[in-house]
Amino acid sequence: MSKGNIGVTTENIFPIIKKYLYSDHDIFLRELVSNAVDATQKLKTLSSIGEFKGELGDLKVVISLDKKKKTLTISDNGIGMSEDEVNRYINQIAFSSANEFLEKYKKENASIIGHFGLGFYSSFMVSEKVEINTKSYKEDEKAVKWVCDGSPEYSMTDSKKETRGTEIILHIDEESKDFLEESKISELLKKYSRFLPIPICFGKESEYIDEKWVDTDKDKVINNTAPLWVKKPSELKEEDYKNFYDELYPYSEAPLFNIHLNVDYPFNLTGVLYFPKIKSNFDIQKNKIQLYCNQVFVTDSVEGIVPDFLTLLHGVIDSPDIPLNVSRSYLQSDSNVKKLSAHIAKKVSDRLLEIFKNDRKQFEEKWDDLKLFIQYGVVSDEKFFDKAKDFFLFKNLDGKYFTFDEYKELIKANQTDKHNNIVHLYSTDKVKQYSFIEAAKSKGYDVLIMDGQLDMHFLNNIENKLEKCVFTRVDSDVIEKLIKKEEDIKSTFTPDQEDDLRHVILSQVPKDSTFFVSFEGLSETGNPMIITQSEYMRRMKEMSAYGGQMGMYRDLPENYNLVVNTNHPLIKRMLTEKDSEIGDKINEFNNKINPLKTEKENLQKANEKKKDEEIPQADKDKISDLDKHIQKINEDKKTNLQIYGKENKIVKQVIDLALLSNNMLTGEDLTKFVKRSVELIG
Ligand code: ADP
Repeated sequence: MSKGNIGVTTENIFPIIKKYLYSDHDIFLRELVSNAVDATQKLKTLSSIGEFKGELGDLKVVISLDKKKKTLTISDNGIGMSEDEVNRYINQIAFSSANEFLEKYKKENASIIGHFGLGFYSSFMVSEKVEINTKSYKEDEKAVKWVCDGSPEYSMTDSKKETRGTEIILHIDEESKDFLEESKISELLKKYSRFLPIPICFGKESEYIDEKWVDTDKDKVINNTAPLWVKKPSELKEEDYKNFYDELYPYSEAPLFNIHLNVDYPFNLTGVLYFPKIKSNFDIQKNKIQLYCNQVFVTDSVEGIVPDFLTLLHGVIDSPDIPLNVSRSYLQSDSNVKKLSAHIAKKVSDRLLEIFKNDRKQFEEKWDDLKLFIQYGVVSDEKFFDKAKDFFLFKNLDGKYFTFDEYKELIKANQTDKHNNIVHLYSTDKVKQYSFIEAAKSKGYDVLIMDGQLDMHFLNNIENKLEKCVFTRVDSDVIEKLIKKEEDIKSTFTPDQEDDLRHVILSQVPKDSTFFVSFEGLSETGNPMIITQSEYMRRMKEMSAYGGQMGMYRDLPENYNLVVNTNHPLIKRMLTEKDSEIGDKINEFNNKINPLKTEKENLQKANEKKKDEEIPQADKDKISDLDKHIQKINEDKKTNLQIYGKENKIVKQVIDLALLSNNMLTGEDLTKFVKRSVELIG
């Protein structure tokens, strides 16, 4: 027997391991099982190059529990270790970089320790004592038993082990007795070892004999040693991909498409990615992709490894070339990882283009579910957009799909404005925006449907990317101005008439929003009043809902434009009625204001050429007095117009009609409208 101190520089590394890696004790099992699998793989390699001439036998890893002895054993029939190897690999090497590592990556996820030669020692996170019982594949090496109780002291003795391979026996400590539960071990094996390349056995297969389940002597294999992604795509059928998806995500809806990744240059990468079917916008789940390193599960948080928008996908990525022994921030700046990420994005866009070209019908059928990913990709990845612009689809209100180019061709002739912009009209709600959609259709315009979660971000983004292309919501202006082809349509009223009528109208608009009343000479068969919301203001408010710098827009009240059609008979009548009802009174005010205005103008004219300090103080005072006076009379005039307006049923009715066609008339206001309508008809 020999005794010695493990080659560590700290007094005792185990408290450190326990402290820093506390958050994820589970990984010890992954580390030990991976070591065991490695040991069998190494033997296979030695055998294939003729260095090992004996029988390989059934290579496997067996995990067993002994509740009474409080042990968990991981055994393999791999290469085993000689005394010298235990010395080198376990007693010395393992800890050489441990201190440095722990200092540097205290905060990092424990899942990376395996690749620092700390793998084996993670067993001390859950054990009070660990034994290694091992026999090398080399015939002349004797078997060794190594025991350590968590202090830097260990003992090594000869062992009676007769078969090739290694047995790691963990004496589970009191705090960790969960790991003596079959269900717990089962769960961990399922998580980490599901697709390991060598059979992992835990427990026995049971058989139903004489009305009860009885264990047979056949080992129960818990893993699938040849998962789909390690097979050649040419050998696989669509069905196989579906089944594998089921295996990964039981009870999920069938995915839309799959992409088999298979790269061996300039790095190794295999895997299968799936476009999941997303039932609703709230259903999006990131972190569904599982990352493996030679079939060993590593993590399911793949940020930094796959492009952000692809974290929405599901599936598996396996690469021995991803440097797992480093921190996440390093990972993201690693040039290999960057290449890998770019490559995955390219593969995904190639595959989508391929499906689009080969089976457009299927592509269109799945588009509504696919759109979100692609939009996410377009807004977040310049390169992806370069590809996606060939297969991105717009959908119009008739449910037809068009590529960017096809759509441009369709609308170019009729929807180009005077600045040569091609105006893409869209609706976010075909019921609410019905009247605007009808108006657009009557002009022969086509309208897109944009009711997805990312549509607004997407529009803002591609407006900058596609040349001379603007997006305008159908209700953002009156139909005559939706696509501005000529100069503005002038109002047929005088500025004074407009001012008076504006006060009359404003007396009746809803108080919780801000309305800007403007006058335009639209078609006399059109609507008398139309409420619109400018594309710009609406987008600002919508974007501000997502937070960020635009926050200030969120707190503004809703702003609307109330466009008054001065050619409409009802509006003309409104003006004449106002004149006949309160025209005299208004004229009285005007008669008072006009001489004051003239006086003010004369004074201003007299002082026109003078610098401010040269203007006599008396003149300045007079002008200021006149202003106040004019303002006072104007206020009175306004009050009169408002009092008149408030009483006027036609004004109210016409405003309500405009509100109604925008779905802005509800509750009590709607009830009043109905009542008033009945009265007016009667
Ligand atoms: P790593 O696996 O990262 O190298 P470990 O501390 O887990 O670090 O193991 C150190 C070394 O001990 C391994 O590289 C391997 O040579 C040896 N070893 C560990 N487990 C086994 C085993 N089950 N069979 C044979 N050799 C093993």
